[in-house]
Amino acid sequence: MSIDLTRETKTEQNAQVSEYINKVLSLIEKEEVNKEEAAWITKETVDGFREHVNPGFLTYRKSVTKDGQFAAVEWSDNGACFKDVNGKEYIDCLGGFGIYNVGHRNPKVVKAVTDQLKRQALHSQDLLDPLRAMLAKILADITPGDLKYAFFTNSGTESVEAALKLAKMYSERTTFISTTRAFHGKSLGSLSGTAKGMFRKPFLPLIPGFRHVPFGDIDMIRKTFEVCASVGEDVAAVILEPIQGEGGIILPPENYLKQVRELCDQYGSLLIFDEVQTGMGRTGKMFAAELYDVVPDIICLAKAFGGGVMPAGAIVAREEVFKSWFPNPFMHTTTFGGNPLACAAAIATIGVLIEENLPERALVVGEYFLKELKEAAKGHEDKVLEIRGQGLMIGIEFHKDEIGYEVSKGMFDRGILVAGTLINSKTIRIEPALTIGYEEVDMVISTFKEVLSLVKA
Ligand SMILES: *Cc1c(COP(=O)(O)O)cnc(C)c1O
Repeated sequence: MSIDLTRETKTEQNAQVSEYINKVLSLIEKEEVNKEEAAWITKETVDGFREHVNPGFLTYRKSVTKDGQFAAVEWSDNGACFKDVNGKEYIDCLGGFGIYNVGHRNPKVVKAVTDQLKRQALHSQDLLDPLRAMLAKILADITPGDLKYAFFTNSGTESVEAALKLAKMYSERTTFISTTRAFHGKSLGSLSGTAKGMFRKPFLPLIPGFRHVPFGDIDMIRKTFEVCASVGEDVAAVILEPIQGEGGIILPPENYLKQVRELCDQYGSLLIFDEVQTGMGRTGKMFAAELYDVVPDIICLAKAFGGGVMPAGAIVAREEVFKSWFPNPFMHTTTFGGNPLACAAAIATIGVLIEENLPERALVVGEYFLKELKEAAKGHEDKVLEIRGQGLMIGIEFHKDEIGYEVSKGMFDRGILVAGTLINSKTIRIEPALTIGYEEVDMVISTFKEVLSLVKA
């Protein structure tokens, strides 16, 4: 019996969709687009956001409101920079909030992924996939202390979910301590650990058992442990970013993380480090845990883990903890986590970080960057409250949101992208590729200085 496919495929609408798809594919294929194509892409992008993605983006983004023309549409990237569809180049100091540690489209990462893609893209889900095993071994080697077993994910929030579930299963406890200003992701589990009320409130109640304490306040965390123990709600784990990213680049007070580790040991609780943003060389060490000489029981990775080429994440845990999942490895799974393309990207990324000494580079260039930014801000104390950072994770805190917004907008107009949107500009974050050159750093600094002198306090 033959199946009649003609009726469905020949409808008017499908013909239009098909034509549209072919046009889009032909543009993807091109290395460069001409003026007419650029205009078409821009129009389709803006219309598409307005009608089918979320019109809210068009008003929130400084990048699309310049001269009121809703126009900055990205198209290509390379090294420390990306280009919009009209060919204007930007130095990327936002770095996708810390994705591009090895630069945009690092050739070694692109090669590994392309090579893998030519042979096999995704895994069978049944046979043993080799790159998963090799990447897990590499992670055991490079992560601090006795972290040994890895579970792979596709994003940061998924890494946090995995860590929380593993901690529950291991400890048979349900209380978690998290911190104010923390950001752990936005799925329901990780959002329970995230601190920002605006993001949490509409979704309450989240998973029960979370208690937030002020980040950096060791007495508060000690008291919380005491109270939890006394009311029979023993703490499964403390979850922390060693340096808070989204919260505005907040460094921990001296000895804080060590003392938290001690408290966790005292109460038989796990310590989870969310290094989704601080990991992979960003802070001057491969992992921020090394800066403070503290070994967590579980470390969460994502963002730069896939080298800015593939979405990829992982948790790595001590054997004692991870073995809760030995009897049934299907207790927690994700179809795409640890797929061959993601593993190829992560393996190549770690290779680049090590071979090119990028953590060390982040430390040295970061120190220069921080010093020069502070220098540039002299005389503007009425606008800039503080400039702080570690490695190439730098925050510029202003007295008011509006000043930060004007500065980030001014820099964007001059070809430099820094984090800072209408709703979140009090602290601008600077997280460029760890491969960024001094020339580019100097350009960022001189532009910052220029813009700072133009904005009003
Ligand atoms: C970005 C981030 C996350 C969430 O990662 P997604 O991939 O966006 O889900 C979690 N934790 C930290 C510290 C982050 O910076």
